[in-house]
Amino acid sequence: MSYTGPDFEPSQPRRSRLRRPLTVAVAALVPGALLGWGVYAAVGGPDDGGGDAGDAAGAGTSAAPSSDAPGSPGGDAKRPAGSSPAPPSGKPSAPAAGSGALRGKVVVIDPGHNPANFQHPSEINRKVNVGTHWKECDTTGTATNAGWPEAKFTLDVAHRLRDLLEKQGATVKLTQDGDRAYGPCVDERARIGNEAKADAALSIHADGSGTGNRGFHVIMPGPVHDGAADTRPIVAPSAELGKRVAGGFARVTGTAPANYLGDGTGLVTRTDLGGLNLSTVPKVFIECGNMRDATDAALLTSGSWRQKAAQGMSEGIVSFLRG
Ligand code: ZN
Repeated sequence: MSYTGPDFEPSQPRRSRLRRPLTVAVAALVPGALLGWGVYAAVGGPDDGGGDAGDAAGAGTSAAPSSDAPGSPGGDAKRPAGSSPAPPSGKPSAPAAGSGALRGKVVVIDPGHNPANFQHPSEINRKVNVGTHWKECDTTGTATNAGWPEAKFTLDVAHRLRDLLEKQGATVKLTQDGDRAYGPCVDERARIGNEAKADAALSIHADGSGTGNRGFHVIMPGPVHDGAADTRPIVAPSAELGKRVAGGFARVTGTAPANYLGDGTGLVTRTDLGGLNLSTVPKVFIECGNMRDATDAALLTSGSWRQKAAQGMSEGIVSFLRG
C-alpha cells in the first residue's frame, strides 16, 4: 500500500467567513435547486457501462500507485500562508452573526473510510452485523490513479461542509475526524447519527470505477426490515434528502449525474449498505465522482471544486431541513 507519500492536504482551517455571501446561497436555493438538476437529468445518457457501483458496498479498489502526481490535490495551495490548523473537533463553532436558519438542527456528516484504515486490515475486515447480513467493519476506500486516497477527499469535503452548516447555526457532528486509528465501523457510523438524533445525515464518498465512468450519484436507502435493520420510517424522508442534495450538488458544481448507473438520474436506491440499513434518521450517501477517471479526478483533487461540492451539499441539506 502506498498512502505514505507527501501529504498535500494541510489541515482545513475553519474559515471566519463564507467565500460567497450567505444570502446569495439561500436566495438561490429554492428556485435553482431543481432547475440545474433538470438540465442534467434531461441530458443524462443511458447507464450501465458496467461500472463498479460497489465502492460504498466495500468493493472499491484499495490499491494505490506508489507516487503522487505533483500538485494533484489542487486548490489548497491557494490558502493564505500562516493559516492556523483546525482546532480539535467536537465543539461546533458559533454561527456567524445574522445567520441561524438551522439553529436547533443536527446534521451528522460521515466522511467515508479513514486515512489510516489501510494500516489496520484485520480490524477493518472484521465482520459486523448490518441487520440484513454481516459485512466488513470498513474499507480502505479507493484512490486516484496518482495515489490520492478517497479518505482524504471525504474528510476535506466534510470539513468544508461542516463550516458551511455551522455558519447557518446547525449543530454538526462528524463520525470521524482523522482522530481514530481506523474506522469507525459501518454500524457505528449509523449509530452515531442515530444517537445524535440527526435531522439529516450524509455519508461522503468518491467512487472507484472504470475509466470513462463519470459523474456523481446519491445513494438512498431502500426498504429493509430484517434483524436490527428497519429503514421503513426513513425511506421517504431520505429520498427527499437525496433529491435535494443531488439537485444542489448538480447545480453548484455543474457536474452531471453518473453515466454508468442510475439511468442518468444521479439517484440510486440500495438495500445492502450497513450505514443506511441501520440508520433511524434520514440519511443518504453521495459518491461525488470517479477517482479512477482522469477527468473526474481532476475535479476531485481541486480544492476549489471541493468547496463547490460542499456548497452544493449544504444547499441541499438546508433545503431539506427548511422544508
Ligand atoms: Zn467510499
